[in-house]
Amino acid sequence: MSDLTDLYQSVILDHNKRPRNRGKPPTANRVATGDNPSCGDNCTVFLHLDAAHRIDAIGFEGSGCAISQAATSLMTTQVKGKTAAEAEALFNEFKEIVTTGNAPEEISDLAAFAGVHAFPARIKCATLGWHATLEALKQPPSA
Ligand code: ZN
Repeated sequence: MSDLTDLYQSVILDHNKRPRNRGKPPTANRVATGDNPSCGDNCTVFLHLDAAHRIDAIGFEGSGCAISQAATSLMTTQVKGKTAAEAEALFNEFKEIVTTGNAPEEISDLAAFAGVHAFPARIKCATLGWHATLEALKQPPSA
């Protein structure tokens, strides 16, 4: 079961234990929800773009397995300060990591999820929050 042990690396455990950016930021005016019925995960992402179209506030709510919660927490720390295009590029790197297990060393925190590739059913868990964020970025801002 060493693969499973690898899957739950310290970054994942840490984000699961102490989720970052939990809850709706007061300035958030974009929202999107993601569901992963096969595992029972759900998450709602709230965010706000500054005048330069960068994410200056992001938070999430939801529940689900350790992978989904940790990946969403880590995602919020990674996309803060990014534009929609930059966030999407980062997601493509993350998707590559979780589907192939190949991780470039320079993005070490995202690479903690490389072990997910051995468990294809969990890829949806790991990408749930990212999909919600990209969806929220496409939504028109509410008042
Ligand atoms: Zn899950």
